[in-house]
Amino acid sequence: MFASMEWPPQHSDSFTPNPDQEYWSPELETMPPADRDRHILAKLQQQVRYAFQNSGFYQGFWKDAPVDPANLKSLEEFAQLPILTKEDIRREQEEHPPYGRFLCISPEDIFRLHGTSGTTGRPTVFGIGKDDWDRIAEAHARILWGAGLRRDDTVMVAAVFSLYVGSWGALVGAERLGAACFPFGSGAPGQTERAVEWSTMVKPSVLYGTPSYALYLAETARQMGVDPKEDFGFRFMYFSGEPGASVPTTRRLIEETFGCYIVDQGTMAEMTPWMSASGCRHLDGGMHLWQDIVYTEMVDPQSKLSLPFGEEGVPVYSHTERTSQPMIRYWSGDIARWDMVDCPCGRTYPTLVAGIYGRVDDMIIVRGQNVFPSRIEDVLRGLDEFGGEFRLVLERETGQMDHLTVQAEVLNGAFASQEFDPSVLEPVRERFMAALRRAIGVSVAVELKPAGEFERTQFKARRIIDLRKF
Ligand SMILES: [Zn+2]
Repeated sequence: MFASMEWPPQHSDSFTPNPDQEYWSPELETMPPADRDRHILAKLQQQVRYAFQNSGFYQGFWKDAPVDPANLKSLEEFAQLPILTKEDIRREQEEHPPYGRFLCISPEDIFRLHGTSGTTGRPTVFGIGKDDWDRIAEAHARILWGAGLRRDDTVMVAAVFSLYVGSWGALVGAERLGAACFPFGSGAPGQTERAVEWSTMVKPSVLYGTPSYALYLAETARQMGVDPKEDFGFRFMYFSGEPGASVPTTRRLIEETFGCYIVDQGTMAEMTPWMSASGCRHLDGGMHLWQDIVYTEMVDPQSKLSLPFGEEGVPVYSHTERTSQPMIRYWSGDIARWDMVDCPCGRTYPTLVAGIYGRVDDMIIVRGQNVFPSRIEDVLRGLDEFGGEFRLVLERETGQMDHLTVQAEVLNGAFASQEFDPSVLEPVRERFMAALRRAIGVSVAVELKPAGEFERTQFKARRIIDLRKF
């Protein structure tokens, strides 16, 4: 069926389905998994051969691979290519600035230049050609269609427009689909107040941002006397960058606050089209893996070997149609569990059933139990007195075990006294401790803080304060 497959695929930039259609591409989205594996293999054979022929980096990187990159026979052979890490990219780009020898097109053909901010090391640079940018738009339009976006929607993109490719990816997909786009941005002083005003005035039907941003927008609206459910008109929201959209209580909270449904999305900036992990309008938490767009494997964090459905591991991503700067078998460092689920949408993709809920590096081990910050968030948001923000303080004296303290805000209004008095709050503190112990299996210390104690973020929340001495 795909013997004469065109690679990279070309798309008509005027196609959209009829509004009542579930799928942008019924064939690709609902094919039997075995047929899809053949389709993916055909794309990866071309992708890997292309990278091998055009990228000096991959020629060196695959030199000692046990398989022939120019003639891959199976997905199992593909899985024997080495895993690429962020460190590999940094080193290569340092030695061959600015793109490294990843770039397979001439620098004059770069259409967009994006990168990571480099908060944890040297920034990484992505050069993206025009054809690739158009394919990113096509992929995101197709996935947003599955999320429920239609041409008569107005999409407010409330995220920073900068080097960060997330906002642009969110925008370009909605543009390609033909929705009205409102690139509002975020992060400037007073901008959230203006977002409240504009949301009341323009009534966008769809919002893109982070879950933290949505909660902050609601908090700001209420302070201004605006009701996020009555006075805005959001029909759905799509999120990336944080686990919250698949954390059940955070999800409920946002849905109830705005009276809308929400869709969790997002792999990594390096892997744009980063929407290749995305929920649909039916899925209640979690993300389908749109495998024909970006191919995802799940591997064991230690052995790096492939894991079957049902297992928790680290997603490893590969571009399947990238001509400018392909990323092949890229180690995400995230933690997720994958499985086949029967979603009412009828798509036959595997699903990250609880989204991406942690980083390998963020996993806290408390008395032998693996604990992820997203699990703690889920517990706290289920408690009536919770004040909206929290921090996790990790301490360790040399040679000792890790000690975790959960600092949680509590609502002043939940108590008879309007003053914040930790001693009056002792029964609440004990309730928080009991709920956390039930959920994670070990006791952790809890400190209560007045609501508003912690800074609200408009971008990705950093909630771990690591004071460990090594
Ligand atoms: Zn679905």
